[in-house]
Amino acid sequence: MFSTAQIGIDLGTANILVYSKDKGIILNEPSVVALNTDTRAVLAIGIEAKAMVGKTPSHIVAVRPLRDGVIADFDVTASLLKEIMRKASKNMGLALRKPNVVVCAPTGSTSVERRAILDAVRSCGAKNVHIIEEPVAAAIGADLPVEEPTANVVVDIGGGTTEVAIISYGGVVSSKSVRVGGDKLDEAIIQYVRKTYNILIGERTAEQIKMEIGHAPIDHERMTMEVRGRDLVNGLPKTIELHSAEIQEAMSELLLQLLEALRATLEDCPPELSGDIVDRGVLLTGGGALLNGLQDWIADEIFVPVHVAANPLESVAIGTGRSLSFIDKLQKATV
Ligand code: ADP
Ligand code: MG
Repeated sequence: MFSTAQIGIDLGTANILVYSKDKGIILNEPSVVALNTDTRAVLAIGIEAKAMVGKTPSHIVAVRPLRDGVIADFDVTASLLKEIMRKASKNMGLALRKPNVVVCAPTGSTSVERRAILDAVRSCGAKNVHIIEEPVAAAIGADLPVEEPTANVVVDIGGGTTEVAIISYGGVVSSKSVRVGGDKLDEAIIQYVRKTYNILIGERTAEQIKMEIGHAPIDHERMTMEVRGRDLVNGLPKTIELHSAEIQEAMSELLLQLLEALRATLEDCPPELSGDIVDRGVLLTGGGALLNGLQDWIADEIFVPVHVAANPLESVAIGTGRSLSFIDKLQKATV
């Protein structure tokens, strides 16, 4: 006899994670698909496909079907989900037969898209499928007391979007989603390096620069990094040295937009809950929460305590999986 496996899927714009109640995180792969442009056949997904970004010959393209927080290409998303379920099953062994699944839909997805996600997961053999609101999942995964009548503020900074939500009694009281996340920061770095040095760098290099020497607009010890790109004047490879202050400047405008979204959500907060926020503060999660100096900068700007989730890249997946234990209460969030 097999017991029914219970798994949670975080369908993120940058990373897809699968969490099993018994085994923890069983899969963690970039949301990237490599396709044959002629036949549309899926050649690779996840880590393997991400390694191909910017390096493929013309008949292969590496795409991120969830890139901006909406499902840009549903067929590709469905293929990706199918492969993810197959890999997760392999990692789990036979236990993943007919699992009960909670999937966290990307923010801003329409009810049509949500239904399509449900269908795609079902078509991979799942028995019951539910959808959970992403910020609620993040809060559960970060051990916030979401079912209590106190306000919990979650700022989830992903690849494509940042979602700010106030949660109380297990539901979202108010929320805002902005199309500013890690991808936009990477793009800002690419633009800056192109304008200032006439050097073209790739997306993955930009992401590495952000993670290593990128800082929120706050005082910090100067850091440098050597970077390789293509000289736009003579077309030849070239190495330059970037310093953290210039990268900080390149990202600051976008970070201010993110801060504005947080401020606006706090301003919308029902007064009875505002007091809780002053006491309990704000939780940062999603990969963007790991940006150097972000926690201190936001705390300085909004005058309430700011915490970072213990595992910002995993809290949504963990919360999605854990939410299975109080699935009945989630019914209202199901399409
Ligand atoms: P999503 O939920 O949209 O899939 P994630 O929560 O997985 O997104 O976060 C991915 C984003 O976090 C990417 O843009 C990545 O560059 C960024 N990120 C990951 N680690 C760091 C870090 N140490 N510093 C800054 N950004 C980071
Ligand atoms: Mg996410």
